[in-house]
Amino acid sequence: MLVFPLALAEYGHKFTIEGIMNNAVYADEHPMIKKAAEFGAEYVAPNAATWERQGGLGEEGIRPSAQAGLCGMLLARDLGGQGMSKTDMTHVTEELSKADMAYAFVIFVHNNLMNAIADKGTPEQKELYLPAMLSGDCLGAFLLTEGQSGSDATNVRTTARREDGGWVINGEKVWVSNAATAGLLSVYAQTDVSKGWRGIATFLVEADQPGVIRQTPYRMMGAHAIGVGGFRFEDCRVDESKVLLPPGEGFKGAMAGIELARANVAAMCCGIMASSLEVALTYCTERRAFGQRIADFQGLQWQLADVATDLHAARLMSYAALEAIDAGSPATIPAAHAKKFATRAAQNGVANCMQAMGADGYKHDYPLARHLACARMANYIDGTTEIQNVVISRELLRPYDKA
Ligand SMILES: Cc1cc2nc3c(=O)[nH]c(=O)nc-3n(C[C@H](O)[C@H](O)[C@H](O)COP(=O)(O)OP(=O)(O)OC[C@H]3O[C@@H](n4cnc5c(N)ncnc54)[C@H](O)[C@@H]3O)c2cc1C
Repeated sequence: MLVFPLALAEYGHKFTIEGIMNNAVYADEHPMIKKAAEFGAEYVAPNAATWERQGGLGEEGIRPSAQAGLCGMLLARDLGGQGMSKTDMTHVTEELSKADMAYAFVIFVHNNLMNAIADKGTPEQKELYLPAMLSGDCLGAFLLTEGQSGSDATNVRTTARREDGGWVINGEKVWVSNAATAGLLSVYAQTDVSKGWRGIATFLVEADQPGVIRQTPYRMMGAHAIGVGGFRFEDCRVDESKVLLPPGEGFKGAMAGIELARANVAAMCCGIMASSLEVALTYCTERRAFGQRIADFQGLQWQLADVATDLHAARLMSYAALEAIDAGSPATIPAAHAKKFATRAAQNGVANCMQAMGADGYKHDYPLARHLACARMANYIDGTTEIQNVVISRELLRPYDKA
């Protein structure tokens, strides 16, 4: 671990440069956080470039994560989980993100579905799906977005119609994280178009069952470890036991987890900023130009100091939102602020770290290009940056609208 000479002990460890870089204030709160940091450094970081090139995680999938205890983090211990708080789970995904935000997102999406099944699922659904998800043999995915409904998420046109005591699903889902290898799909489908969002229900659909057609994963700017792609459903029959959330509860269920997802993305952005800053500092203290270390140019120092400030602010915002979420307090606004701020901070911060490294920062020999693609991705996942502004503006104007 690097010891930063600028450490200001009088402000407490949390506010020292070392504390900001290593998130050290939290390091001893839950043993899984340290374990995730080690797993990230020893397994995720060395494999990330390969996943990026090959366009997915490959054969072993998330099993190594499961062995490290990273599947079922929010699940109660009697269900085989870690019984962690949402804050602690987010520290874990932040640590993974330092190695690869794409991998961290895979793990988050999977854990999120496990948590939904543990919370809302029937005893039969828990028994059927949780063991294989805990072992990493079955990867989970969340299927809300469609071609015509991204931000306008209630405009779901995939249909589920009742037939013979079960349901028949037809339609197409796009932008599905984990699509390349997912075994279990939580599918949001419209059961009665006249009811709008109240008609949306959520079904647990096995990806290898008849009527499910997996599409070729997308080629994107980056983040290929996520294996993002689409699914088509053609007369896909499921029985009543596959309903996770009945009509009326489906869309509410999707929105219930959105604050956690947004705060989590914000913390993952902190992870890629911290990693980029560390790489840039190491590089700039070794590289020489005009007879001196480039780190001794004040312009460059200030560029990196701004990244450290943004990282500090983004982390405080992320975990303030998490604190509210774990306390059961309203968190919509803090989560929207955190996601918007951290996304922008990561975009600028990673790019500035890259710039400080000259042309070398642009090479795939360093992780910054991967991190920058993930910072861009943060603008879309779990609601665009503009949608965070829609949420914040609505709240800003509320008192004036009443008058
Ligand atoms: C890597 C990746 C993984 C993803 N994984 C998943 C997943 O697992 N499951 C899933 O369901 N979805 C997933 N998504 C989809 C994601 O949730 C959507 O991309 C997002 O909701 C935005 O929808 P859209 O792309 O259709 O953009 P649109 O909604 O078409 O928006 C286009 C532009 O218009 C802006 N805009 C839209 N409405 C407003 C408004 N009211 N005010 C101001 N501006 C507005 C947007 O901000 C954006 O700039 C993923 C996306 C990516 C990139």
